[in-house]
Amino acid sequence: MHQMTLAEIARGLADKKFSSEELTKVLLARITQLDPQLNSFISLTEELALEQAKAADARRANGESGALLGAPIAHKDLFCTQGIRTSCGSKMLDNFKAPYDATVVAKLAAAGAVTLGKTNMDEFAMGSANESSWYGAVKNPWNLEHVPGGSSGGSAAAVAARLLPAATATDTGGSIRQPAAFTNLTGLKPTYGRVSRWGMIAYASSLDQGGPLARTAEDCAILLQGMAGFDQNDSTSIDEPVPDYSASLNTSLQGLRIGVPKEYFSAGLDPRIAELIQNSIKELQKLGAVIKEISLPNMQHAIPAYYVIAPAEASSNLSRFDGVRFGHRCENPENLIDLYKRSRGEGFGPEVQRRIMVGAYALSAGYYDAYYLKAQKIRRLVKNDFMAAFSEVDIILGPTTPNPAWKLGAKNSDPVAAYLEDVYTITANLAGLPGLSMPAGFVDGLPVGVQLLAPYFQEGRLLNVAHQYQLNTDWHTRTPTGF
Ligand code: GLN
Repeated sequence: MHQMTLAEIARGLADKKFSSEELTKVLLARITQLDPQLNSFISLTEELALEQAKAADARRANGESGALLGAPIAHKDLFCTQGIRTSCGSKMLDNFKAPYDATVVAKLAAAGAVTLGKTNMDEFAMGSANESSWYGAVKNPWNLEHVPGGSSGGSAAAVAARLLPAATATDTGGSIRQPAAFTNLTGLKPTYGRVSRWGMIAYASSLDQGGPLARTAEDCAILLQGMAGFDQNDSTSIDEPVPDYSASLNTSLQGLRIGVPKEYFSAGLDPRIAELIQNSIKELQKLGAVIKEISLPNMQHAIPAYYVIAPAEASSNLSRFDGVRFGHRCENPENLIDLYKRSRGEGFGPEVQRRIMVGAYALSAGYYDAYYLKAQKIRRLVKNDFMAAFSEVDIILGPTTPNPAWKLGAKNSDPVAAYLEDVYTITANLAGLPGLSMPAGFVDGLPVGVQLLAPYFQEGRLLNVAHQYQLNTDWHTRTPTGF
């Protein structure tokens, strides 16, 4: 039962082969049995799940239908869930029970999805390895000595290990696509503004975007359908109609123009990954796509720009955690300054503290022009590169990551080494573009992802290309041994 995709579950529920309650019980038992190896969940919500599953079964019995009605999912633990701990992977929020549901959570619940729990993540979504979580590192089900990627490593590990079919995640600089690549999943970061950020604990507000992590493009289409849409509570939410993402999956790729940036194949890329990317290009050519070499000349400046802008926004967003209103508060503060200092010093881990310091520095008088303003100018150049490229091609294709999943602890002493691994993903966030990662093969038994980028609001195109690719390849069907 645990092997089913969301699409298969929807068919099984519609055909009355099993009930949502039965399936929910099977998956909860599987999580209890197998998750101790992975640490992919921070909280399990058994009671809520069974209640939602029973309600979904009752709705089906009353003639309602829908691909998400009775479908088990989990939420990355930065989506606020009413009355349930929403920790953001931090000691700071270990005692925080959200007083309301995030829009994404409310929308998926209304569509009938069943929440099995809240998944582990890098503290405040800062990281690429899921090692900065206060709740401990998450392990990669493909090799328990390796990281699952981050910051949505819990969602990725849980879905890859078949503990559940799909989960929500967020992507500020790659946190949906990179863990998807590291665990053999399909993950989609939508256009900025497509999915509401209301109730999603903010890391870098101009970059953060929620999206689906699942095994197939078909399942990402189903989950995105439930997440996307205008929300008046989010001032950056865009009031554009949401297309039917499943309807465009079968469009032919004949004549599709795919751009391959020459900068992507530079020295930092593992040659074995380069070869797998070339294979995926050939596969898409067989399906009728036309390949064109393009250039993204400002790509080399994207990492430094991102690692100024993201920490700058984080330093501002995280100022609300002051030990006064909610979250961790130190014992016996001597005065207000002592309360702030010790609550924040005890509540935030080292990576979060590092980013707050970098961000506050970049925003301070005298440095603002030199760092923050310059980074914003680079951001515009990165966007202009994409706009020029998309005047010639429909899709941009390349690797999701320069290397496969590294060993746990391998980059802990050198934060910059980890930042450099974001080279292919962060440009989409700087420009606000949608991006998808899908399975493209293995290196040393570890999964490799191929990334597709599209113009604004072309999520349907990304899902269409990925679905056609998945109909003709079987990488995405491979299961990690032991799960
Ligand atoms: N690795 C990037 C960072 O640490 C991206 C994280 C994310 O997308 N949330 O900022």
